[in-house]
Amino acid sequence: MKRAAPALEAALSRLAQRQLQRQRTTVEAFAAPDSRVVALAGGRELIDFSSNDYLGLARHPALAAAMSACAARAGAGSAASHLVTGHGAEHERLEEELAAFTGRERALLFSTGYMANLAVMSALAGRGERVLLDRLSHASLIDGALLSGALLRRYRHADAPAAARLLDADGARTALIATDGVFSMDGDLAPLPQLSRAACARDAWLVVDDAHGLGVVGASGRGALEHFGLGAEEVPVLIGTLGKAFGSFGAFVAGGADLIEYLIQTARTYIYTTALPQPVAAATRRALALAHTESWRRERVLSLTARFRRHAREAQVPLTGSGTPIQPVVLGSAAAALAAQRQLQEAGLWVVAIRPPSVPQGSARLRVTLSAAHTEAQVDELVAQLARACARSAQA
Ligand SMILES: *Cc1c(COP(=O)(O)O)cnc(C)c1O
Repeated sequence: MKRAAPALEAALSRLAQRQLQRQRTTVEAFAAPDSRVVALAGGRELIDFSSNDYLGLARHPALAAAMSACAARAGAGSAASHLVTGHGAEHERLEEELAAFTGRERALLFSTGYMANLAVMSALAGRGERVLLDRLSHASLIDGALLSGALLRRYRHADAPAAARLLDADGARTALIATDGVFSMDGDLAPLPQLSRAACARDAWLVVDDAHGLGVVGASGRGALEHFGLGAEEVPVLIGTLGKAFGSFGAFVAGGADLIEYLIQTARTYIYTTALPQPVAAATRRALALAHTESWRRERVLSLTARFRRHAREAQVPLTGSGTPIQPVVLGSAAAALAAQRQLQEAGLWVVAIRPPSVPQGSARLRVTLSAAHTEAQVDELVAQLARACARSAQA
């Protein structure tokens, strides 16, 4: 232990020098459930513009009530993995509801999206095969590809022809193409129809991780696939997370009955881990129902997104083409992004700087996210403060 310490110290100080050291901020308290105002130690209040709580469900009293009612019945912990004694009625019902929601034969719950992606990638690809990923894929897809032992090839962001060329390249057979549906740090959509045609033509799986699309994108919130009018034929493997728009925790894989059974039998991140607590599944079921009955939430976050973009454009805040609630303001260097984060924080706004390796070198940014729980006035204040921060950043 002692012997390694100087090396760790040196590595940490290199991170600090490059402005890449990460810091946690402790939230002490929350304002009203339908607001994104948080209080830090000492009572300092900030408006949170960095969470993935797109529908404003994370602190909805109905989710907390479902959770505590279930905990009173079933307890706080699952006490075992799903294949031993940990699989409960709430898990089972949630899986049925997720299968119905996604229009697939079956769905399988995982404790996190990270684990779901490790499971899918290592189940569907292996040594001697090739896996294709978008350059901006989420880290968990990359780690899943590495874990699979397949040869990992990455294509230029959102470039379906580049993916098709790699599919055709000599050598190993391509087992699968995997992509985010909505890209987590950029908010844009993957070219799913083109990727699906390429994958189908070469008999490769197409795996879509729609962590940021489900609940938000598509006419009824069924995500990037609904947006493009794609079904289980075109995208046989769909991964979703439950800790973002659905305000709860956990993740799922939805697909054909054989795929799900194969994951249950073989996926190590499913088999060798304690089942998600049932109260969490109960809260998620409530969230799914609310996302359906309160469709105004989706309409509201999208209309706040449009308002943000309209006003930001007028104020000359640099925007990307993203039409989702993920609105990156790319500033370039890690130092510039951190300075802007600090300036916004002084003005009472919490917008976190995202730096490499979460995003490519030279594209550090403020990752703004909007939520149905924001008010118009808060969004307008954000634009005003971003305009100031960007002007200062341009001068520096
Ligand atoms: C957040 C995220 C994950 C991980 O999901 P968790 O449930 O938070 O582990 C996976 N993929 C994408 C694209 C994500 O944004």
